[in-house]
Amino acid sequence: MSMLADEADLVAPGLRWAPGFSALGPAFLTELQPRPLPEPYWVGRSGSAARLLGLDDSWLQSDEGLAAFTGNLPIAGTRPYATVYSGHQFGVWAGQLGDGRAIMLGETAGGLEVQLKGAGPTPYSRMGDGRAVLRSSIREFLCSEAMHGLGIPTTRALCVTGSDARVRREELETAAVVTRLAPSFVRFGHFEHFAANQRDGELRALADHVIDRHYPECRHSDRFDGNAYAAFLEAVSERTAALLARWQAVGFCHGVMNTDNMSILGLTIDYGPFQFLDGFDPRHICNHSDTAGRYAFNQQPNVAYWNLFCLAQALLPLIGDQQVAVAALESYKTVFPSEFEDRMRAKLGLAEAADGDRQLIEGALRLLAQEKVDYTIFWRRLSQAVADGDTGPVRDLFIDRAGFDAWWASHAARRAGTPAAETARRMLGHNPKFVLRNHLGQQAIEAAAARDFSGVATLLALLESPFDEHAGHEEFAGFPPDWASTIEISCSS
Ligand code: AMP
Ligand code: MG
Repeated sequence: MSMLADEADLVAPGLRWAPGFSALGPAFLTELQPRPLPEPYWVGRSGSAARLLGLDDSWLQSDEGLAAFTGNLPIAGTRPYATVYSGHQFGVWAGQLGDGRAIMLGETAGGLEVQLKGAGPTPYSRMGDGRAVLRSSIREFLCSEAMHGLGIPTTRALCVTGSDARVRREELETAAVVTRLAPSFVRFGHFEHFAANQRDGELRALADHVIDRHYPECRHSDRFDGNAYAAFLEAVSERTAALLARWQAVGFCHGVMNTDNMSILGLTIDYGPFQFLDGFDPRHICNHSDTAGRYAFNQQPNVAYWNLFCLAQALLPLIGDQQVAVAALESYKTVFPSEFEDRMRAKLGLAEAADGDRQLIEGALRLLAQEKVDYTIFWRRLSQAVADGDTGPVRDLFIDRAGFDAWWASHAARRAGTPAAETARRMLGHNPKFVLRNHLGQQAIEAAAARDFSGVATLLALLESPFDEHAGHEEFAGFPPDWASTIEISCSS
């Protein structure tokens, strides 16, 4: 295939392509073209993701941009492909999976992979149709940008396009395509794939590629007697621990933490049945298909460790010594709790660690769990209470007022040396006013299905800067309506 642009190919101003993952060769991927969708239309676009990509914003809004990011016309300089991976799903080895509906356009010179999710079948589609439905595409688009707004590592989303082409799930729905961006879409499952097939040469080539591109410091680490693969595993463990700490602190439930949904860069990836907690229930299960609660909110940190153990097993042929591989996972057990405490301290407005912080944090979480108090509203009202010196609104969240008063007194004592305004400023900068609650997404989805995309745009604007007040948008920061608890979100997407 020629690298020269076909005359019919679109030139995307600002985008320059460079070989990246694709240079690994055909053992890792299959080249193919996206399958067009009829009469596409815009559903949403992220200006900030466009800037990240260096893409000309007016082109992004053009008909050419619409065609390109629906997969209807090739972009000059790209050679699209789908990658192969395997994975453990719900704790069970699932064998080969792969990009069944995500097609990579390529890698930019700026180091971002650009992927179309829902762009048609690939050799890895198995029984699937290669499509994504409008509903889950809007959720992925908004949540990618929301997580970024919250400061949580994530794949990004440039845009969503829709089409009236029918897609069969439980019901008939319509198709959509999300354009996703990340420095790498490599998953734990990519490593598991080559390890399970005893293809050590490819396993090494993949690890070398990821280390050279994304973890170059592992080449020079003096950890593990200079074993770069062990240093790599340790670095991935630490990034994963930091990610999980952020998920737990913000109340984010991923819902499908299979090893093929775990990013080697420690990014949040593959938004499916995710949920931001409404009432604080540590055992909350957001995925309707997860009947056993394997991926319940409070299980996430342990599941991540279990997944890292699978990655360690896959890397064993490169690391060479089982004890070294196990040792490389050890730091997860210290990094997760210390990162989690740091994140929670920030929510409490505390700049420095002190004895008793853990009790203060656990005390708050215990109170919240007792009455399933709304997680996001609690932290925001608490921040406001410190700012205004009026505990009324946050205290009103509890039936156990005495319990709250006692906890408030211990928080007040802990921060006594610092001006309240300074603590409050810190708290308001770490406790978001807006998160993508299920019912907010649902309302935007229902409007979009009727071709009104203003709800998607409004939510995007709020979620891009979730710590700002956004006066006039109180309805997006309120309690979920009763019907929110009846929304059932499953793996079907
Ligand atoms: P997920 O649960 O979305 O992470 O997907 C798990 C696996 O199923 C991945 O290999 C996906 O590419 C594949 N998959 C999910 N939905 C589809 C679909 N509609 N068509 C083809 N493959 C799919
Ligand atoms: Mg997946």
